[in-house]
Amino acid sequence: MASLLIKNGNIVTAGEQYTADIYCDGEQISRIGRNLDAPPGATVIDATGKYVFPGFIDPHVHIYLPFMGTFAKDTYESASRAAVVGGTTTLIEMVCQAKNEEPIRDGFELWMSKAVGKSACDFTFHQSVTRYDAHTEAQLREIVAAGVSSFKVFLAYKGAFDMTDKELYDTMALAKELGVVVTAHCENADLVLEMQKKLVGEGKTGPEYHYWSRPPRVEAEGVHHLVTFGETHGTHIYTVHTSCKESLDEAMAGAARGVNINVETLIQYLVLDKSYAELPNFEGAKYVMSPPLRDKSNQQVLWNALRKGYVSTVATDHAPFDFVGQKDMGRDDFTKIPNGIPSLEDRINLLYTHGVAAGRIDLGTFVTSASTQAAKLFGLFPRKGTIAIGSDADLVVYDPTYRGKISAKTHQLNLDYSAFEGWEIKGRPAVVTVRGEIAARDGAFVGTLGRGQFLKRERTY
Ligand SMILES: [Zn+2]
Repeated sequence: MASLLIKNGNIVTAGEQYTADIYCDGEQISRIGRNLDAPPGATVIDATGKYVFPGFIDPHVHIYLPFMGTFAKDTYESASRAAVVGGTTTLIEMVCQAKNEEPIRDGFELWMSKAVGKSACDFTFHQSVTRYDAHTEAQLREIVAAGVSSFKVFLAYKGAFDMTDKELYDTMALAKELGVVVTAHCENADLVLEMQKKLVGEGKTGPEYHYWSRPPRVEAEGVHHLVTFGETHGTHIYTVHTSCKESLDEAMAGAARGVNINVETLIQYLVLDKSYAELPNFEGAKYVMSPPLRDKSNQQVLWNALRKGYVSTVATDHAPFDFVGQKDMGRDDFTKIPNGIPSLEDRINLLYTHGVAAGRIDLGTFVTSASTQAAKLFGLFPRKGTIAIGSDADLVVYDPTYRGKISAKTHQLNLDYSAFEGWEIKGRPAVVTVRGEIAARDGAFVGTLGRGQFLKRERTY
């Protein structure tokens, strides 16, 4: 395999910033230092004036997803291409088999088959637990032994993915025994269902009413519920897509009494607010996701929580549905709009532009929240999430002087709109490597589909 020398980059990890060369002989980083010589045949990249970040990790994506009567638009081919061009070199996808339809083990194998031999970047999974019985428990043990050391539970989506409290109790006990982190979608399923019925019954059917069916307290109740059940067994827990102050308060109250909880927010909650879902002519449907976009006042809370480390990770909950033919299934009823604001390709550029370039977070926080913490929490560190000798050569040479605009006309995603159409970005990846191979250059994909590997993970506590 070819060797690669990245010269004179401003290297940024979670804890350090320095100028040096990085030499990769094969798939891992083999040397870091000043004035390294390129062996004959090595590819040399001049990173003068650019940052070099560890490859970014998106700890919450959906690629294969049967949901709300349709399927998410991406395949691993389109999603991994978009990820890599945007600087993300590791994907953690949710296995989301439907409740009571197929054995858990079949779900895991199906999701695996969608990724192996197709992805351009490395990947792993959070295994959804949508029921709990002796048969399921035996299969979960096998899946964990195969290298999946995190579960996903849904407190929302009544009848589709949700579970009883008894099942949640048992899941938490197994997770504690196996050293598995339980990630959770925190919203009270019954409250959402009843409020949806009430609103639709009153003729309030537009996308703007999605918010009112799942206000902040509905999410905060879910977080409180998760914390209580995690606390019971001492299980490590992680609240996905945390959108608002009320939920953060519940998570912090749990942490203050010793619960090992980590908080994920999404780039969407940092840069969008509920006024987007109120856009006229059904445009608001492009901005329907769950939990919903919140009042703008939450953005300041979330940015501050990120700075202070109360929020550990910034993910996307990427779930792409076309505006025409999919989102419009809910034209007469917001409860039928497939949920999701696709952001996989744009997460890093948006976080850099609205975080670092806008002075809201420093470079260390940027790298920590978009890469290092996900690696640490989910058993990928130090293989992923940092720049060190022996780590995988997943590197992002980032050009902070680039100026451009996001558009569905130029994005890699297999999707007919962008929620960020026309938004300016300040900076983008100039070169992205996946285990030592250049996979993207200046917004173009030049990698190899199918080269991405399943990342086997160990217990994390
Ligand atoms: Zn999700």
